[in-house]
This record gives sequence, C-alpha cells and structure tokens, in this order.
Amino acid sequence: MNESIVRVAVPRPLRRGFDYAVPAGMATPPVGARVRVPFARGQVVGVVTDHRSRSEHALKPVSALLDDAPLLPRDLMDLAQWLADYYHHPLGEVYATMLPNAARQGVAFAPRWPRAWRVATAGADAELARAPRQRAALDALRESGAPMPESELRALGFERRVLEALQRKGLARCVDTPPVYRVGASPHNLSDEQRVAAEAVVGALGDHAVVALEGVTGSGKTEVYMRAIAAVLERGGQALVLVPEIALTPQALARFRARFGAAAALHSQASDRERFDTWMNCRQGIHKVLVGTRSAVFTPFARLGLIVVDEEHDDSFKQRDGLRYSARDVAVKRAQLLGVPVVLGSATPSLATLANVARRRYRHLALARRAGGAAMPALRVLDVRGQRLRDGFSDRLAAALRHHLDAGNQALVFINRRGFAPVCLCTDCGWQARCADCDARLTMHGPRAVAPAAGWEASGEQQPQPGQGGVAGGQCAAAIDPLRHPATRLRCHHCGRSYRRPATCSDCGGEALLAVGIGTQRVESGLAERFADVPLYRIDRDTTRSPAQIERRLQALSDGRPAILVGTQMLAKGHHLPGVTLVAVLDADSGFLSPDYRGAERTAQTIIQVAGRAGRGARAGEVWIQTHHPDNPNLLALIQSGYAGFAAAELADRSDAGLPPFAAMAVVRAESADSAAAEALLRRVVTTLRAVPESAGAIEVTGPAPSPLARRGGRHRHQCLAIAPRRRPLRAALAALAAADIRAPNVRWSIDVDPYDVF
Ligand code: ADP
Ligand code: ZN
Ligand code: ZN
Repeated sequence: MNESIVRVAVPRPLRRGFDYAVPAGMATPPVGARVRVPFARGQVVGVVTDHRSRSEHALKPVSALLDDAPLLPRDLMDLAQWLADYYHHPLGEVYATMLPNAARQGVAFAPRWPRAWRVATAGADAELARAPRQRAALDALRESGAPMPESELRALGFERRVLEALQRKGLARCVDTPPVYRVGASPHNLSDEQRVAAEAVVGALGDHAVVALEGVTGSGKTEVYMRAIAAVLERGGQALVLVPEIALTPQALARFRARFGAAAALHSQASDRERFDTWMNCRQGIHKVLVGTRSAVFTPFARLGLIVVDEEHDDSFKQRDGLRYSARDVAVKRAQLLGVPVVLGSATPSLATLANVARRRYRHLALARRAGGAAMPALRVLDVRGQRLRDGFSDRLAAALRHHLDAGNQALVFINRRGFAPVCLCTDCGWQARCADCDARLTMHGPRAVAPAAGWEASGEQQPQPGQGGVAGGQCAAAIDPLRHPATRLRCHHCGRSYRRPATCSDCGGEALLAVGIGTQRVESGLAERFADVPLYRIDRDTTRSPAQIERRLQALSDGRPAILVGTQMLAKGHHLPGVTLVAVLDADSGFLSPDYRGAERTAQTIIQVAGRAGRGARAGEVWIQTHHPDNPNLLALIQSGYAGFAAAELADRSDAGLPPFAAMAVVRAESADSAAAEALLRRVVTTLRAVPESAGAIEVTGPAPSPLARRGGRHRHQCLAIAPRRRPLRAALAALAAADIRAPNVRWSIDVDPYDVF
C-alpha cells in the first residue's frame, strides 16, 4: 500500500482528527488546504492538518481537493493549534471559526477584483446642484482619496445607480484593477512624543515585541501607526490593523486610504463572497494594509510585518460564543509566532495590558499630550444627591448645557442605556413588567424607536431643521408620554422579544403605571423640550445601525453650529468631533456599582473615552459627571489622578483579591430548558476539575450557581468559576475537563477562558 493519507480537522465538536486516503489521480493535499470529505452520512469541508504514511484501518477517500496551495499558511496552522489548546476548543471548530463563511462552505477561490469607484475630473460639480445623493457620494469618494470598494459605498447608502449617474457626468469612474499602494506624506509634523513612539515601533520591526502605546484621546496614535505601517510597506511587508468597529468609524478607514492609496477592510456589511476575496487578496500579498474587526485577526498574509490593535481595551475584541477568543490576545500570540511586533494602542489600556507592562513583558510608550496643541478637558463631578432630576438632568447640568450652546458650541450627552425607561412600574402594588422568557425587566421604548426608518432617515435626503423641536435622529417629536402612546412597546434587551404596552398592571389591574429611570430616548425627548431651538441627534442601536446613518449624523455636526448629540457608548468610539466642548455623563453610578469584577475598569474606560470627545478642536472642553455617590473611590481616583491613578488603585485591589490579571480565570456555563439538568451537569464539571491531581490546592472552583441572568430565552443558566494564581494548573484542569467529554441531553455548556464578564 503506498497511497498517501491525510489527517483532516472536520467542523464538528470532536476532539480528534480523522484520516482519509488520497485517491489515485488526486494530488496530495498540502497541509493548510481544504478538502471535502465524507463524514457521518454527509460531506463536510475540513482542513488538512497532517500527512501520514499508514493506517491500520481501511480509509474512506478524500472526495475533493479544494485548494492546490495551502489556504492557511504555517503561522495560522500553528495559531489554530494554540487556540484549540488555550481555549480548550475542538480543532475542527477552531478552523471553522477562522475561515470566512464562503471558504467554510467550500467555495473555490478565483482571483477577482471587487468593483471599486474613484473620482474623475471630466465633469463639473455644478451638475450636482439638484442631486444631493450624487453630491454626497462624490464627497465620500473625495474624502477617501483612493478608490472605494462598491460594497463600502453601498454600506454608506449609495446605490449603484447613484454612482453610475456620477460616471455619466464625468465625475466618477468604475475601476476593477488591483489596488495600488504607495506611501503618501503625512499631513502633520509629528510631535516629539509621536516621533519617539513611531521610531520605537519601526526599530522593533523584524522581531517580536509587544508595544503598549498609551496615548490620551486625541494624541495622534493613528499617526504613529501610519508611520510604522509606512516603514513596513517600504520593506515589502503587509500590516494588519484591528479596530473594535468599522461601521462606526468610516473616518478612520478614509485616513488609511488617503495615506496609502488603498486599504482593504473586513467589515460586516460585505457579502460572504467579498469577505473571501479580501481575505485571499491578503493571502496573495496584493492587499498591503487590512483594517478589520475581531475576526480579521485570522486573515492569512503573505508577508505580515506588523499588527496594530487599536483601542485594545475594547470589549468587542472578545468573542462571546463558540470559540470565546480575545482578538487582542490572539494578535499577540500571532505576532509571536510570526516574529513581528504588535502595537496595543489605547487611551485607557486594559488592566491586563498594564500588568504586562509592569512585569516588563510589554514595552510601554506614552503620548501624554494631544496632537495639534488641544488641551485635555477638565473633569468635574456633580453631586446630585437629593436633587430632582428632570429626564436625567439636574438643573445645574442643564444650565451648563445652555451655556455651552449659547456660546456657539456643541454638546454630547452620554447615557449608557437605550430606550425610554428601563422599568415599567405599577405604583399601586410595585409590579414591574418582566420578560416571559428571561429573568429580566422590560425596557420601555417609545413609538419612533420601534420604527426608526419612519423618520427622515427613510427619505435619505431631508436633513433635520433647527427650530422644529429637534425633529432629528428618529426621535419622538415633542415630549410624548410613551405610556399613553399606542405604539409604545416593551422590549427585552436580552432575548429581543417585544411586547405590547400594558394598559393596566397585570397583577392588581391598576392604571397607575409609571416609566422609571432614563434611557437615551427619554433624555432626547426631555432635551427636545428644553432646547427646542437646537438640532438634536441621537446615536444608539435603535437609531443608528448602518455606517450611512452614523455618517449622516456626524456630517450634520461638521458645520460646527450648536447641536446636541445624545447617545450610548457608540459615541465613545474614536470619533473626532471638534465642535464639542461639553460632555455630560448623566449616570456614572450604575457602572461603578456593577458586581462584575471588571465593572469598574469598563466604566472608567468608557467615561474617559466619552470625555475624550470634548475639546478636540480649538476650544477647550469640559466634562460633567453626575453621581449620587461622589465618594465612590473609583470615581475619586479617576477624577483626582486620571486613568493612570484609577488603574493603579484598581490593580492593587485586584492583586489583593487574587483576581485577573494576577490570576488565571475561567467560567464554565451551562444552560438548558431544564434547570436541574444544567445544574447537575455543572456538578460533574466541578468534580472533574477538582479531581485533576495538578489542580489540587492550586485552583479554586466555586459553584455551580445560577448565572446573574438566570434565565434567558426560556433557558435556565448556571455557571461555575475556576480561578488559580498560576495559569498552568488551571490549564491542566480544563484540559481534563475537555477530555472528559461530559454530556447531558439538551444541556449546552461551554468553557470561557479569560472571561470578560462573570456576571
Ligand atoms: P487618537 O487616535 O490618539 O485619539 P488621532 O490619531 O485620531 O488621535 O488624532 C487626533 C487628531 O489630531 C486627528 O485629527 C489628527 O489628524 C490630528 N493630528 C495627529 N497628529 C498630529 C500632529 N502631529 N499635528 C497636528 N495634528 C495632528
Ligand atoms: Zn399593580
Ligand atoms: Zn427576554
């Protein structure tokens, strides 16, 4: 027998590979290539992980070889194995997570250029006087400074017919040629700090190093990244930039394109096919710069020279289901496997990163000043104990807002809760509206939030006019009373289920229902009443889902005239809003009082990031933070000594408590429609974890206990927690757990290593 044999990882939750024979006439599939193989009663697409010379059994043959060259280069094959070991996840499912959908489904790759559009100069702008959509599309192309893929233009709301109209007028041209990269000059002279940081990163190229770039908001971190990327391109390399969310920051992509002539983006708006094309064009070395979200960390490259993780503290780098990886940590591992540097940039570095800096595992570079000379905003705490708040505002804060608007400035109001009110309460008996499927209260949403497209968004052309009670951003026009409005809904933010507004209390039948608490919609409607003369824009997941919508709102602010922006943490994501001089944080307390061990860290980061939107232009900014707990030690540390002071105090607390980053942690969660079954399974988990000899005395296992959200979507949830001062015994215990292959009918369970939330 001299037939060759390949071992294949199949996309099933099985912790072993399967061997297949290569039939006569088929080339031997290389390691890293996809094959179609028979499995169970069907066919699956798997990845070749190994060649073998013989087998004791008669083997089924490979049905088809899908790639003649490895789709996954060596470093990604090694990374896959590392992911499987570190996160205790089946290797075949690791590959399934790494591959884009189209690749996973077995689509063959044929090189292809996605259609792109660029500006042309044969026509005259005057022809656009009556075509605002075309005008806007042309502006987007000009701002980009480089050809833009049609998929992104579509995501910005420009249909092909708009682009074709521009082409007929000689103002735009469709291109389908490979991207042309060049290194353009920086529009700025780098500050000394920026230069030192950029030189340090450039000096590290060609070797593995982790560089934590701690730069205050607006300090010009992107300029440092671009300088380092330029050096990579000049050496014939490629660069990967991971960002929390592309849709929210089209400006950032435009900056990379303007500097490098092109930049590929992996974003959620692209089709499966487009994502696969982008992925492969990186693999082939045709794309030199890729900007992408979490899963872009798995993109294959021909010559990757640098990885940047921007806003490395951001929670969206953590995948919350399936393979629960942290893209930041995976980026560090990948850079290590490739022998290239990785830059972790943030104004508010994660405590994990700061601990690695303290242990001298990571290098630390700081940008302490804002670029272009803007001052950092002053933070002030507003004690609102005993005060009556109207739609979330104390009188003093409302006066400050009026003051800034009258001075011709813009203001940003931050409240991290969407909807009108988080509680619908019966004042007669205390009943609160709850979800039938979840252990959670329902959030009241006023009429417009239910159908945001019914506002000016839908027509696409009209902009909100000042003086109309701020009829903007899909808001309730005047201050409506959602309790009386027939279109008001109660919605569950955990399972998405939506309910009709109750007319009466379902316990006592009383009619004294009350909306308690505030959400963005209520804040917006209160502001519309108080500041009827000022345009108002709300940014949250109800009003703003697409890049086009966020673009339009930010565009509306770009003239610098007085305006108010209300929103959730979507507003904290790196936008440059030079007209904003006041940032109001309506409620700092709920975050700091969160029972989750990362609650304070997350809240401090959000406050500093939102605060960082203030005073980025010529005028100085200030930040007002309302609180009922002015003595909260976290808040005091943040105000008195900034993020660094907060972080130092919080790290000391974590160290005392034996919590990450000073310990390794994992959560095992189980859920089932049958609560007892989930709990029973976790009891076996706990026993297994404790039985591992290496873990005796070295790891602490607690639980099982009901999860903080004990029921979601009709399923009961339980969890147990394993924590150890050192990683090795925890890893051994989890490996034993994974190998034990515990199962129970209708119970789903998962291991989450380095969880971002335990509550
Ligand atoms: P960060 O990402 O650190 O918050 P950005 O990189 O977005 O900051 O830069 C903030 C603003 O400052 C941008 O508009 C950028 O063009 C500008 N900028 C960056 N570096 C300089 C510089 N050296 N001089 C003047 N302006 C700069
Ligand atoms: Zn009642
Ligand atoms: Zn629910």
